[in-house]
Amino acid sequence: MIEIKNIKKVYTLGALQVNALRGIDLTVAEGEMVAIMGSSGSGKSTLLNIIGCLDRPTTGDYYLDGENVSGLDKNRLAAVRNKRIGFVFQGFNLLGRMTVQANIQLPMLYAGANKNEMEARAKEALNWVGLSKYLGHYPNQMSGGQQQRVAIARALVNNPSLILADEPTGALDSRTSIEIVSIIQQLNIEKGITVVMVTHEKDISQYCRRLVNLRDGRITEDAPVLNQRNAAADLAAFPKETEAGA
Ligand code: ADP
Ligand code: MG
Repeated sequence: MIEIKNIKKVYTLGALQVNALRGIDLTVAEGEMVAIMGSSGSGKSTLLNIIGCLDRPTTGDYYLDGENVSGLDKNRLAAVRNKRIGFVFQGFNLLGRMTVQANIQLPMLYAGANKNEMEARAKEALNWVGLSKYLGHYPNQMSGGQQQRVAIARALVNNPSLILADEPTGALDSRTSIEIVSIIQQLNIEKGITVVMVTHEKDISQYCRRLVNLRDGRITEDAPVLNQRNAAADLAAFPKETEAGA
């Protein structure tokens, strides 16, 4: 599904050049669940943004489902992104002045679906993350974990084949983090969606099947996770402090 060949990314800031990626080779097959780890500044977000067609490499090739997308212009990249890829970010990135339903429908506006279809698909996606009663809520009326679930519903609404998550649990407490990872794991196992997840937490990476380590713009390790953890099982065993945090 993802085939990256010797990708380099250079950011130019006036006279300063930052070598964010220094030659990345990476192949991800359909149905995989991959963690990308590495310290701050190692190039994780840069790589994820290129995989997600939010940005282009300076040099190198990127094939997505066999199509070389590294040379596409911005409009074509946006079309690829909107059709095939769902994003989840650390800060949820919901629009505060829109209801949950309107937030979830945003990616469909771009695709040009009709009103009834948009409503049905928004409800289905929200149902999937267990928040069917929250269609009319606003993000600031919800906990962080709930907002992240809304963001996952939004990422799902166009039926992507690939979900990219950049530190999806970075703003959440440990129990809520496992809840969110559990939903992402279900997307992978039940819906067969390929997942690439950036995290700097070793514990969280253990819910993936494969671990890629970045250091200073290069891959230093790429190996299977020996005992992939099951988030639903861990959640069932996790002590519950309050109901409200869910
Ligand atoms: P990570 O997500 O692992 O923390 P990033 O991919 O965000 O790392 O950043 C890698 C390097 O590229 C860092 O040195 C960072 O400062 C630099 N960088 C990231 N985005 C930009 C940008 N838009 N402009 C200039 N430099 C950037
Ligand atoms: Mg980052």
